[in-house]
Parts: sequence; C-alpha cells; structure tokens
Amino acid sequence: MTQKYCHQIGEWVEDNVSQQVQQCVKKKCKWWCACCNKWFCFLVWVVVTVLKWVVTTVCEILGDAYDLVVAVITGGWDIIAGIFTWDWSRVFDGFMEILGAFGGLVGDLIRTVVFPCGLYGAFRGSVNKWRLIGYVEDLIDKSRRFTEADRADIKAALGIGGSGFGLRLTLTSYRGFVRSDYIAPGETVPALVQWNNDPDPNRRVDLKKLAGFKWDKFLQRSSPDIRGDVSSESDIDEYLGNPSSKSFSIYAMSDSALLDRIHNIQIKGDTIGLKLAVDLQDVHLTERTQVQANITDPDGQHNSCAVLDVLARSPFNREPSVSGFGCHPADPQDPAAVERARNLLCKPVIFGTFRFVANDSYTGYSACMFTNACLDGGSIGNDGGTGALYRHGLPNWVRTWVPIHELGHTFGLCHVDGLDRIMVNPKDHSWWSGWLIPEYLCFSGEPQFSHDEARKVWDYIIANFPIDCLANRDVVVT
Ligand SMILES: [Zn+2]
Repeated sequence: MTQKYCHQIGEWVEDNVSQQVQQCVKKKCKWWCACCNKWFCFLVWVVVTVLKWVVTTVCEILGDAYDLVVAVITGGWDIIAGIFTWDWSRVFDGFMEILGAFGGLVGDLIRTVVFPCGLYGAFRGSVNKWRLIGYVEDLIDKSRRFTEADRADIKAALGIGGSGFGLRLTLTSYRGFVRSDYIAPGETVPALVQWNNDPDPNRRVDLKKLAGFKWDKFLQRSSPDIRGDVSSESDIDEYLGNPSSKSFSIYAMSDSALLDRIHNIQIKGDTIGLKLAVDLQDVHLTERTQVQANITDPDGQHNSCAVLDVLARSPFNREPSVSGFGCHPADPQDPAAVERARNLLCKPVIFGTFRFVANDSYTGYSACMFTNACLDGGSIGNDGGTGALYRHGLPNWVRTWVPIHELGHTFGLCHVDGLDRIMVNPKDHSWWSGWLIPEYLCFSGEPQFSHDEARKVWDYIIANFPIDCLANRDVVVT
C-alpha cells in the first residue's frame, strides 16, 4: 500500500522536473561555451534522478518495514489460528505472507545498502521514459492518420514537449460478488444453491470452492472475501440445506488485495506511458458464466471470444466481438460495429471474477482488438474487441501482477521469457532469463515492462486509438 505513495513522489518528480530538464538537454548547443547549457542541464538531470531515487527508496524501506510488522501480526495470527483449527492451508498462507513482506524489506536493503545498484534501476526508468517520449513523437509525426492540427493536439494532450508524458485514460475495474439471497426471476431456489446442486460437472459451481474453502489444486487457490454469516465449510452445508438460515455475500477478493492490484496497474502502467485513473465498481454477478468464466473452448481456439462474450452482457454491456475478426472470421466486417469497438479502446476494462471453468491453472485472460506484432516476430490480437478477466490467486505477491499482465495484452503486448517481466507466461515461455537475478537482487525487485514493450504498446496506440481520445487530457488521475 505504501509503495503507491512512494511511487507517486517519484512520478511527480519525473513528470514535473526530469521531463523539463530533458527538454533543456535537447536544446541547441551554445558553441561559445562548448555546449555548457546542455552539460549543465544534463548534470541537473543526474542530480534530480539520484535525489529522486534516494527519496523514493527511503520511503519504500520505511513502507516495507511497516508492511512487515503488519504481515507478522496478520500472518502470525493466521498461523496460530490455522494450527488450532487444523487448517494447514491457512498456516501456509500465513508463512507466505510473512515471507513475502520479509523478502520485500531484505530486497530493498540489498538494493540500496549492500550494493547500491538500485540506482541503476532509477536511471533506467528515467532514460527509458525519455527515449519513449522521443519514440512516440516520431510515431505521431510519421503517422498518416493525423492532420497537422491533430498532431499538435495529440502532442499537447500527451505532454510531449511539456510535462507529465502519458495517455490519460479511465480504467474501469469491476470486482464481482455473489449474494446468498439472490433468486433468479422465475426460480424459487437461490442461484448459489441451484448452481451448487447442478449435476453437470461443466456447469456446476461448487459453492465451497467459490468461497475458498476447497480447491482443485493447492497452488491454484484463491482467497475470496466472505461477508456475513459464513466462516466455515459447515456454515456452507447449513446454507445449502436451508438457504434462509444464512445471509452473506462473497466478494472475489478483499479490498486490500484489490487495491494492491490496482496500484500495481497504475505504477507499471506509468512506465509504459499510460496514466490510468481507476473507477472501482463492485458488480453483483447473477450468471454462472460470470462467476466461473469459460476460457477453454472444445477446440482450444480463440478463448478471447469468451472474454468478450462475458463483457458483452449485463452488467458490463460492452460491445460483442466484432464480425470479420478472429471470433467470427468468415463474416464480413460491419464498419459501424468496428468503430464502436474502436472507441472502447479508450475505455479499458478489467473484471475480477472467481474462477475459470474446468481450468483454474489460468489466472487471467484477455482480448486484444487489433493485431499487433510481438517482439519475437509473432503477433497477438485480432480478436475484434477489448477486455480482460482475472481471478484472485495466492500468494498475493506473485499474483498481484496478473491484472496488469492482462491489461498489457489489451494494449497489444505478447508473452515473453523471464519472471523479471510482467508479460511472462511460463505456460508457453521460459520462466528463466539472464536478467532475472539482476532484476530482483539489484535493479528493482519487481517484474517490469521493457522499453521495447513500451514501444510496442505505443505502436498499437498510435495505429489504432481514436484521435479524439489521443487528443484528450481531461481525465483526472486519482
Ligand atoms: Zn498472458
């Protein structure tokens, strides 16, 4: 939680001081003093970057120390309570929570005190932002989509040549919840009971799994947030036997788990030039396909279509997948539908649900509207719509990167190798990369987007986003 505020300090300095100083470095040389103007600005930039690193690092160390105290108290409580109730998964989670917080603090200390190579990470961040601004300016100048007036408006809105570089968008973050008393129209039994008792294994929603009391595989567990009369499996049994005996809601994840994910979306989004304001919404889920999304088609193809199908229905009411793209390749394109779906590029959405049908080895899935080239020569997208789903998973410090990973796909990013990268997927790429150990031990201690990925995101944005949206700076970032 504290990380966000430390990062905000750094972001403010980067946007309002570093980017101004960089403008000055790019100015023309004054030859009479051997480019003293540029050298002076460059020196100021170095000093600002070092100072920014010192301030944010001290802030992070204090924050991590605080987080460790909190983790020892809450994790310690989980361990003790788990031992007394023979709940070994709770003991394990308690240990993992303390271990994660301990690792965070030790990592910070190693990166600053033992070998101060965290400073490299600070310079890398500032240089990459600098290079990205130049790259985007060049893309805008070369794109044939824009008039001269458009170019000026877009550059002003993005903060190119000014301050606060980034595309300002509002991300809608939905968190699903279910209620014990919801009865679908025309039915007499609550939906949760009906779903739980369904004999079809592909349609059944096991309420104990939904509530986090049971799981298929230990490492695929999640920790939903139950509010109300239920605190154990036997409470669920009681409810299933007599639905009016219990009153409760189950949220897909706790407030703190959600905010942690949102903060990481904002922090990492900024590194690729996205300034995301977030609109947090809780949505009551009344369909089992929302609670347990189907992302495994019989033919194993175009699972992204399922993401779009979920988001096209109430309460999200987004556009269905557009014909002529991957989900309906044989049908002709309807230009009006394509434009409606294109406008949604500027309204990114992410939906936190409970589970994925028959395959909780996934923690998220997304759809990318247009095709974008991958760094490794492949391509992603062409799904005919934009959107992302994810579910909560444990441990938190690993799974917290899932929503920003899925959002990365919706901005045209592909999978890469290495757990030091946000876009890694060990299912189809290697977990290992040569930068893995330096990144965690030295540069930042977190997975990153690379500069090349930031460029790919902007290739996608400049090629596809509506001009109105690129030229709009009205979003208030919170
Ligand atoms: Zn992925």
